[in-house]
Amino acid sequence: MRHSLELARKGFSDFLPDGEAEREARLLMCHALKISSAQLYARLDETWPTGPPFQLFVEACEARKSRQPLSQIIGEVEFYGRRFFVNSDVLTPRPDTETLVDQALSGGFERVLDLGTGSGCVLATLLAERPGSNGVGTDLSQPALEVAARNVARQGVQDRAVLVHSDWFEAVQGQFDLILSNPPYIAAAEMRGLAPEVRDWEPHVALTPGGDGLTAYRIITAAGPMHLRAGGRLMVEIGLDQGAAVAELFRAAGFGDVRITQDLSGHDRVVGGITP
Ligand code: GLN
Repeated sequence: MRHSLELARKGFSDFLPDGEAEREARLLMCHALKISSAQLYARLDETWPTGPPFQLFVEACEARKSRQPLSQIIGEVEFYGRRFFVNSDVLTPRPDTETLVDQALSGGFERVLDLGTGSGCVLATLLAERPGSNGVGTDLSQPALEVAARNVARQGVQDRAVLVHSDWFEAVQGQFDLILSNPPYIAAAEMRGLAPEVRDWEPHVALTPGGDGLTAYRIITAAGPMHLRAGGRLMVEIGLDQGAAVAELFRAAGFGDVRITQDLSGHDRVVGGITP
């Protein structure tokens, strides 16, 4: 199987740095064989077992060469220490978004609203981290809500989560201690410059609201206060150059203590504020 691994690595090195090409080839081989990385290490000099694994590996490598993201081929990804189901109906959970989760967990909440929940990774993580909490996740995409439902169940928080088909706040009732969102925020003009894995394989509706990329923030900051209890918090993930513009939208909507937080790469990543 070592030879197959080498062929895959070579194929991927046209578009991935060397170390990354090797890592992804190994992960796809583990996926095809349904074994762990440690098990692969021990078996690499064996010949392929009979049955579907070889065909599965070939197909997975072809998919990756067509630039389908690894997460979608494997069907899952790790986020905040837990594994989540992923397909092309949802944005793949990214390390950037762990900053949003960290910020949410830096304060208290019992009832949380996640707007545009996608895979459900933010909502499910927060409910899993806070056993006494409950929450609502919304999405405009019905297929995304199906993925979110599987993930909420996978993390064992299905009894504390309600998933609602909604255009932002449209079908949302009641008030919350915490509202958060990782909305589509890429400006229309920036879509062409994205990596093919993102641009061609992740849902367009989850990436960009069109125009200047700020549409979702305008809606969420304007309607947020009506759905927050006194002292409630609103926080959103942002693109690295959107901090000033989004902070201004928070202030214009009356939010206090407006703060911009950086991600692990040092980029502005989250804007948060407290209800007026
Ligand atoms: N962070 C994502 C990217 O740059 C975009 C996610 C989003 O628009 N919410 O690919």
